[in-house]
Amino acid sequence: MTESRKADLPQPLIIPRPDHPISRANISKNALKVLYRLKDAGYQAFLVGGGVRDLLLGLSPKDFDIATDARPEEVRALFSNCRLIGRRFRLAHVRFSREIIEVATFRGTGNTEITGSREEDHVVHQSGRIIADNAWGSIEEDAMRRDFTANALYYNIADYSIWDFTGGVDDVDARTLRLIGDAERRYREDPVRMLRAARLSAKLELDVHPSAAEPIPQMASLIDDVPPARLFDEFLKLFQTGHALASYQALRRLGLFEHLFPATFAEFADGNHCCEALVEAALKNTDKRVREDRPITPMFLFAVFLWHPAVSRARRIAEREDCSDRHALQLAVAEISSEQTQRIAMPRRYSLPMREVLQLQPRLQKTGARGRARLVEHKRFRAAYDLLVLRAAIGEVDGGTVDYWDEAQSESPQRHDDRGNRGRKRRRRRRSSRQPGAAPAN
Ligand code: ATP
Ligand code: MG
Repeated sequence: MTESRKADLPQPLIIPRPDHPISRANISKNALKVLYRLKDAGYQAFLVGGGVRDLLLGLSPKDFDIATDARPEEVRALFSNCRLIGRRFRLAHVRFSREIIEVATFRGTGNTEITGSREEDHVVHQSGRIIADNAWGSIEEDAMRRDFTANALYYNIADYSIWDFTGGVDDVDARTLRLIGDAERRYREDPVRMLRAARLSAKLELDVHPSAAEPIPQMASLIDDVPPARLFDEFLKLFQTGHALASYQALRRLGLFEHLFPATFAEFADGNHCCEALVEAALKNTDKRVREDRPITPMFLFAVFLWHPAVSRARRIAEREDCSDRHALQLAVAEISSEQTQRIAMPRRYSLPMREVLQLQPRLQKTGARGRARLVEHKRFRAAYDLLVLRAAIGEVDGGTVDYWDEAQSESPQRHDDRGNRGRKRRRRRRSSRQPGAAPAN
């Protein structure tokens, strides 16, 4: 690295072990194994990101990420249980039976002169968005390209000190999320950082520093260009990890929600208070289920978000075309679901059942009809019933209707709230993966 360039980079504040509370006792054994193996092979090895941040906050981290100066191939050579993944962002995954430890090589800014990396490794779109981020760099550069100061703290396995390049320790103490560098530029580089601000502030009960919060409302429309598959990943983290209501409130406050669920937001804007009440009741309920370790599925919340938009669309279709209410709803559900999927790429294994759940609503609103026993046996009955219960809770459906279906279920030979073994087994296996919210419907 040239001297002039080096002078631009910050020197870390090094906080020795006695002066911070992070103890190895709270770090995953597998993460420690990976850190020590890297160190013993002569590489730098740090715990970084959410793991360090959460430990400083006295919380137990969801996962432990590692940063090193070893290149991905060098990491792979050290571990038999290691796989290299990712294109946009290449990483090593070291797999232990139930846990995956992510090991990332320090990233730089892509200045080929400094890092010796190839130009295609760090690709910035003309809009300022970073498309590929595989240019290796120094730890200082790695710190500067992270999003928030609280996420740019490095715990050094060599002497158990914390390296702080950006004032992250003070910000954690002040319970503040502050973006590193110029906020507008950082959001343009990666608009998902706006969603991360909302999510992390909700999850960790941190304030978004005014310098990071203020630009969001006018930059929120950049979310529209984020690849839909990435937004689905963010959706899972926002809404399926036990802080859905707080995330939603943060998204609303920052003007981000409308860019994730435009049709739902249009209902709010039309003064549909039932729609807002239903969403809030469902998010509260989802958080409760997560706390109780009961299965959840992203399909259900999508159904909640899209129910009122589908009803409004169906009403318009029925006015315009001469068709039955049932057919109008079917068309509306298909349209709304496909529009939403273009925004957030909900996989078909969720979108198809979600459509069934919505289409079942009018059938569940009718009581005394024929075929009640058959309906109770329907694959989507349970999720459709759960939506009906929420709708009743906000006064949209008569409580007697829920009683009617309670009774119908108790008469059913095969109780749907007590699934067969296959369902339970699958559920348990899925929940152990890193992906939240992958469990099937209940
Ligand atoms: P969580 O508790 O949800 O895991 P996290 O901050 O650890 O929160 P990860 O997605 O695991 O989130 O990312 C790990 C680290 O990678 C972050 O702490 C941050 O340093 C960095 N990072 C993640 N996403 C971005 C981004 N979009 N821009 C810059 N840095 C990022
Ligand atoms: Mg993490």
